Amino acid sequence: MLRYMQCCPSCGAKLGSETIPILRAYSFSCPFCGAPLRVAAYHSGVIYLTSIMFSVALTLYLGFRDLAFALITILGSGLIFVVLCFIVGLIRPAKLELRPPKNSTLRLHD
Ligand SMILES: [Zn+2]
Repeated sequence: MLRYMQCCPSCGAKLGSETIPILRAYSFSCPFCGAPLRVAAYHSGVIYLTSIMFSVALTLYLGFRDLAFALITILGSGLIFVVLCFIVGLIRPAKLELRPPKNSTLRLHD
């Protein structure tokens, strides 16, 4: 079910959630016009912070401390990040925006 279609900000083509690579959503191209796209940065930032907090809370709840706490929190936040990206992508896809061209910082050699 694709109730939440995103539109390419460049050509306006509808992009389904299956078109947007979830784990590489920060950098991909429109399959129709080839425009460089990315998911708005704040979106994955919020998911990342949520997954870290969730992982810390869960590890404390399970009773791990010290080194085990650190390792499990790091590993757990990575796993939760992937799961959250998937869930959030299904529920509320992030806004797409045009990725700034990479050569914009190479103007020195004009
Ligand atoms: Zn496009």
